[in-house]
Amino acid sequence: MRRKLSSPKKRQGWLQTFTPSQALAPSSIHQYTKEYHGNSSNYVFPEIPKKYKAVIYDEPGKISTKVVELDTPTPGPGEVLINLTHSGVCHSDMGIMTNSWKALPHPTQAGQVGGHEGVGKIVAMGPGTENAAVKVGQRVGVKWISGVCGGCPACLSGHDGVCFNQKVSGYYTPGTYQQYVLGPADYVTPIPDELDSAAAAPIGAEHFIDHTTSKDVAADVQALTGGLGAQAVLVLTAANGAYASGMQLLKFGGTLVCVGLPEGDLQPIATAFPQVLVAKEQKIVGSAVGNRKEAIETLDLAARGIIKTHFRTAKMDELTSIFEEMDQGKIQGRVVLDLQ
Ligand SMILES: [Zn+2]
Ligand SMILES: [Zn+2]
Repeated sequence: MRRKLSSPKKRQGWLQTFTPSQALAPSSIHQYTKEYHGNSSNYVFPEIPKKYKAVIYDEPGKISTKVVELDTPTPGPGEVLINLTHSGVCHSDMGIMTNSWKALPHPTQAGQVGGHEGVGKIVAMGPGTENAAVKVGQRVGVKWISGVCGGCPACLSGHDGVCFNQKVSGYYTPGTYQQYVLGPADYVTPIPDELDSAAAAPIGAEHFIDHTTSKDVAADVQALTGGLGAQAVLVLTAANGAYASGMQLLKFGGTLVCVGLPEGDLQPIATAFPQVLVAKEQKIVGSAVGNRKEAIETLDLAARGIIKTHFRTAKMDELTSIFEEMDQGKIQGRVVLDLQ
């Protein structure tokens, strides 16, 4: 998936602030990228500021965020520096911010930059990225799993989304609620040109919030499926109750796909009765984020218009109120932070 850098499309105002004479800082990266892209003479190197804006969890445990200024990092070996323009706001981030997932190894620390649905352009590449599938100027995404080891049994069998040594963006690593983020050159997701950045941000997310609370979901599903139930039910919310009701929507031979992560103490699916599973030959499976290949395929579907996201955009200083709305169940679809 290689693209020419000679004619980057003017999109989202990305090139508006750049002039050819502006150099990357610090100078060591500049030299490196200049050498590397020596043939792409038309490519305009963006100016990288020394400081940039980020949103941190200033009081983990509570719904509270703060816009701060951070020093722009330098990409290390194998890393790229991405100038993010958009980040989806996900319910999972609220779990991390409020320390409500008991399964996480340690409490979230004050100052953590959250977010895991980021889109932006690569502005610098660290040493050892000569053969990477991505280039300076290319638009890429950062998702829930921000990096994997590549060598564990999960990675080796194509299940890199459940890598034993996975890094979660916005928890183990600084996340996407910021204007610049580092990512592994071999794990950021290339974004198709056809896809708008704000629309791409929430794709590849592990869940979407569905507030269509009909009076009788089971009856509605029966009506839509000729009375047989659904072949597959994806539970995308963090509600334990959704899992319990999900089982009742399934057809014989159907599959319940667990995606949303309930908060608090671990609870089994209340209606996963072995008698019913056997009698109806049903399956229950889990899916975290899918692997890198699936993320790329999903974005291709979106670029072709087969998948659409429903979203509204908001500014960085609105993040606390967005989480408050989310907590009150008031958000329809996705909110995407405009980081520019
Ligand atoms: Zn691994
Ligand atoms: Zn998410």
